[in-house]
Amino acid sequence: MEQFALTDEQKMLRETIAKVAREKVAPRAAEIDAKAEYPQDMFDLLKSLDLFALPFPEEYGGTNSMLASCIAVEELARVCYNTAYLLVVQWVPFGAILHGGTEAQKADYLPQLASGALRGALGVTEPQAGSDVSAITTRAEKVEGGYRINGTKIFCTNSAVADFALIAAKTDPTKKHAGIGVFIVDTKSEGFMVARNESKLGARGVPSSELHFDNIFVPDDKVLGEPGKGFKLVMEAFNKSRPIIGARGVGLAQGAMDLCVNYVKDREAFGQPIANFQGVQWMIADMAIQNEAARNLVYKAAAMVDAGATGQELAPMAAISKCFSTDVAMKVATDALQLFGSQGISRDNPIERYFRDAKVLQIIEGTNQIQRNIVGRHIINTTYPA
Ligand SMILES: Cc1cc2nc3c(=O)[nH]c(=O)nc-3n(C[C@H](O)[C@H](O)[C@H](O)COP(=O)(O)OP(=O)(O)OC[C@H]3O[C@@H](n4cnc5c(N)ncnc54)[C@H](O)[C@@H]3O)c2cc1C
Repeated sequence: MEQFALTDEQKMLRETIAKVAREKVAPRAAEIDAKAEYPQDMFDLLKSLDLFALPFPEEYGGTNSMLASCIAVEELARVCYNTAYLLVVQWVPFGAILHGGTEAQKADYLPQLASGALRGALGVTEPQAGSDVSAITTRAEKVEGGYRINGTKIFCTNSAVADFALIAAKTDPTKKHAGIGVFIVDTKSEGFMVARNESKLGARGVPSSELHFDNIFVPDDKVLGEPGKGFKLVMEAFNKSRPIIGARGVGLAQGAMDLCVNYVKDREAFGQPIANFQGVQWMIADMAIQNEAARNLVYKAAAMVDAGATGQELAPMAAISKCFSTDVAMKVATDALQLFGSQGISRDNPIERYFRDAKVLQIIEGTNQIQRNIVGRHIINTTYPA
């Protein structure tokens, strides 16, 4: 049985991050979103707090705890989605190299990712291939000493500021998943081009970019894992990082609730605070009930990662936690905005930012329909009921 009762260290971590979030991150959140500007100052803050290593083994300065990492992400996302995102975009390539990299690749990248000296990104999605990763057409052709990569990626988050990106490409276009490799591509390589940054509804502070690859040379020692096993590697990295996406949902929902509860106590209608109306109280109660359930699912999935669960043992629970918590984030943000009335629609009111950012969570790292496919397939293909 996985335990997710918080240790004293984890409780202290929550208090520390919550204080930093309140004092240093919250005052910047609206501006980062409004200007859609990469928050270098927030990156430097997280770096100074040594937070980039958090989920990873002690040898990299981390806690080796996904649960601790979820707590940190939750507290940051409560005030600023974009600052929490800075951790997540660093952790996905870190996790992929940790689990699939050679000793030399680990030595080259992990200490520097952990300290924040290097920034990474992950490029899988293409104009014609999102949910169906097997349909990617970016090509990695074997040449003497390495591979030549040609193709286009879209929505590659962080790549415009990253030092390298993990790029999924077809090593054998006649195969589907089994023809995919993952390559560690230096963003300064000849032929690597950031074509444009998307103008986004939410998650506006961390750029998501269209990339063009024009015959980039990647040496053999930069192939991550084996060519042909890249899909499995990326999926395993996603399974492990899904609780963190869920934690971002829990934090976002909590932040939306915080704003909303203050507002309903203050705003009057029919001669009294709207918080007095039972209809309003029930909406707040539903927010609390759903988010507490989401938090417990996320902590359970994180505890499973910490207990060493992988593959089919982890995948359904990781999908359940991501899907539920991000659907809850969308529902809570929608209801919280509703309780602000017209003020909820105003760009001057932070609640609309929560609403926009929540939508992104239902799409990234596998849409919530795809999460449901994972859960549904698992239930159909296992003996159920037991
Ligand atoms: C802010 C943001 C950041 C992102 N960052 C990255 C990144 O860093 N790297 C990266 O590689 N990608 C990134 N993505 C892309 C993201 O992973 C894809 O958007 C996602 O996988 C869905 O792919 P798609 O957009 O092509 O939608 P499609 O796959 O075209 O799907 C369209 C719709 O059909 C539904 N659908 C598709 N197939 C099925 C099915 N079998 N059953 C039921 N419904 C289905 C989908 O759920 C969706 O609603 C990012 C996206 C966003 C919004």
